[in-house]
Amino acid sequence: MTTDRRAPVHPAPIRLALIGIGKIARDQHLPAIAADPAYTLAAAVSRNAHVDGVPNFHDIEALIASGLAIDAVSIATPPLGRHVIAAAALAQGWHVMLEKPPGATLGEVRALAPGDRTLFTSWHSRHAAGVAVARAWLADRRIARARIDWREDIRHWHPGQDWILAPGGLGVFDPGINALSIATAILPGRLHVEQARLDFPANRGAPIAASLTLKHGETPVAAKLDFLQAGPQSWDIMVETDGGTLTLHDGGARLDIDGAAQALPDGGEYPGLYRQFAELIASGRSDVDLTPLELVADAFLIGEHHKVAAFDW
Ligand code: NAP
Repeated sequence: MTTDRRAPVHPAPIRLALIGIGKIARDQHLPAIAADPAYTLAAAVSRNAHVDGVPNFHDIEALIASGLAIDAVSIATPPLGRHVIAAAALAQGWHVMLEKPPGATLGEVRALAPGDRTLFTSWHSRHAAGVAVARAWLADRRIARARIDWREDIRHWHPGQDWILAPGGLGVFDPGINALSIATAILPGRLHVEQARLDFPANRGAPIAASLTLKHGETPVAAKLDFLQAGPQSWDIMVETDGGTLTLHDGGARLDIDGAAQALPDGGEYPGLYRQFAELIASGRSDVDLTPLELVADAFLIGEHHKVAAFDW
C-alpha cells in the first residue's frame, strides 16, 4: 500500500543513521549509502560494532539524546526488537526504512504511525535484475503452475546467527520471505497459503525447513524452503504459462524464458532500495506492503509442526 500524505519538502542530502551494524549493513547498506548522493551517512547505531568516520551510538536512545541532526534512519537489526526502534525514530519525526522482514509480527508493523513521515517496508529481492522483466512478461499470460525452490546452507550464509532460529527470527522463512516477496511482485493475482509443513529442530524455536502449497487463484504454487542444503544452492522460481516457462534464478538476478537467458538491466538491489526510499521521502509517501509477511504468518497459523533433529552450528 502506498499512501500520499504531504507535499514534497525534503532537501537533499538526507542525513541518515544506519541502525544495526551486522552482516547486511556492512555487505550492502554501507556501500549503497556511500554511492548515493541523495544521502550522507550521519551516524551509526550498534551495541558492539563501529563504523569509521561517523559518530557512533550504542542505541537509538543515545542517538536521540545526542541532539545530532538526523532526517531518516535505516534499520537493519534482526526483526524482533525493530518495532521499538522504529517507533522511537518516528516519534522524533525521522523517516524510517525497515529491512526485510519489516517486523516480527504483522501487528507491530501496522501499529507504527508514520504521520507525515515516510515509512518504507523494504523488500530487497524485488529490486533483483529479473523481477520487473518477469512481472511484465507474466502480466498477460495464463499461469498453469509455479514452483519456488529456496534452499541454502545456514551454516555458510548465517554462521552463528542464533536469532534466526529463535522465536521471531522466522527460521528458514528469513531467506524464504525473499522468494515470497518476488512471487507476490511478479504474479498478477493474489497468493494465499493452502497447506504448510514446518520442521522445527528439537532445540530451536523457528523452522529449519518448510514446504508450502500456495494458491494463485485456482493455480497451485509449490514452495520448498530448506536451510540445510548441502551442495548447489538454489534460489529459483519457475512459472509455467500458456506462452512458455519463465525461470528466475539466483534470487531473481538471472531470468530464463524457455531455457534462453534474457538480457537484464542491473542497478543493484540495495542501490534500488535506497533510490526508492529517497523518492518516497521526496514525494511525501509511505510504502507499507506486508503481503510477504502475511503469507509467512499464515504458514505458521495453518502449518503442521514437525519436530526434527536438533541443530547446532
Ligand atoms: P546480523 O549479522 O546478526 O546483524 C544484525 C545486527 O543487529 C547485529 O550485528 C547486532 O549488532 C544488531 N542487533 C541489535 N539487536 C540485536 C539482537 N537482539 N540480536 C542480534 N543482533 C542484534 O544479521 P544480518 O544478517 O545483518 O540481518 C539483519 C537483517 O537484515 C535481518 O532482518 C535479515 O533478514 C536482513 N537481511 C540479511 C541478509 C543476509 O544475507 N545476511 C540479506 C538481506 C537482508 P550489535 O550487536 O552491534 O548491536
